[in-house]
Amino acid sequence: MAKRIEVSDLDIYYGAFKAVEGVNMTVEPRNVTAFIGPSGCGKSTMLRTLNRMHEVIPGARVDGKVMLDDQDLYSSDVDPVAVRRVVGMVFQRPNPFPTMSIYDNVASGLKLNGVRQRGVLDTAVERSLQGANLWNEVKDRLNKPGGSLSGGQQQRLCIARAIAVEPQVLLMDEPCSALDPISTLAIEDLISELKEQFTIVIVTHNMQQAARVSDATAFFNLAGQGKPGKLIEMDSTQ
Ligand code: ADP
Ligand code: ADP
Repeated sequence: MAKRIEVSDLDIYYGAFKAVEGVNMTVEPRNVTAFIGPSGCGKSTMLRTLNRMHEVIPGARVDGKVMLDDQDLYSSDVDPVAVRRVVGMVFQRPNPFPTMSIYDNVASGLKLNGVRQRGVLDTAVERSLQGANLWNEVKDRLNKPGGSLSGGQQQRLCIARAIAVEPQVLLMDEPCSALDPISTLAIEDLISELKEQFTIVIVTHNMQQAARVSDATAFFNLAGQGKPGKLIEMDSTQ
């Protein structure tokens, strides 16, 4: 079930340095929202606060509120690890476990969640690889290492791994910037399909990509050298 994200009065710090200031925004479910802006304006930082990955960095701190439907992600009784199960992340560089099999790459999160039955895992692995438009390419080589795939296939494998645990939100940090143009288009098509099931936020510095895949675009900028990034405008793209 996709969920709505509501961010209020968010400031994000690295130690004493305020990287992002005063963000208020709503990210609608079954939509793709693009974060766009110059390098250093805080797009990745912003993304990492949406699944509490930011605070893994020593000294990192968040002020303000992030709601997932009616749940306050930063409430003191919320476990950050549980948040990261509900809000999945795909990174800029495809990062499958390179020596682990394709099958186990997809099954890894489910196994961490305690799923053991082979039949259940088989079904989930096939469904996730289908969902990531990778099944037909890998169904005869599921025991081959994840690192044996092409860059574009590896990124789709990472997406399959992310969706296998059935998150409600998918965060993608420049998911195409390490890929060739053909693989990029395949990932963009996939993102457009996945939005039927998930709330998707994608960081990109490519305006054309934002226009192609997103329903809404959040424009960030730098207030000045050494100053925090700010959300300056939120547009509906289509
Ligand atoms: P991008 O602009 O694509 O996010 P960067 O090259 O800015 O990539 O950052 C790469 C990594 O280095 C990120 O994980 C980011 O958090 C980290 N990083 C960026 N700036 C700093 C900094 N001033 N101090 C420590 N780590 C940083
Ligand atoms: P963007 O993704 O828009 O390129 P980032 O979120 O990576 O921007 O960075 C925003 C600001 O925070 C930059 O000034 C960057 O140097 C700083 N920053 C990013 N990661 C770290 C980090 N791990 N430690 C300290 N400063 C960081």
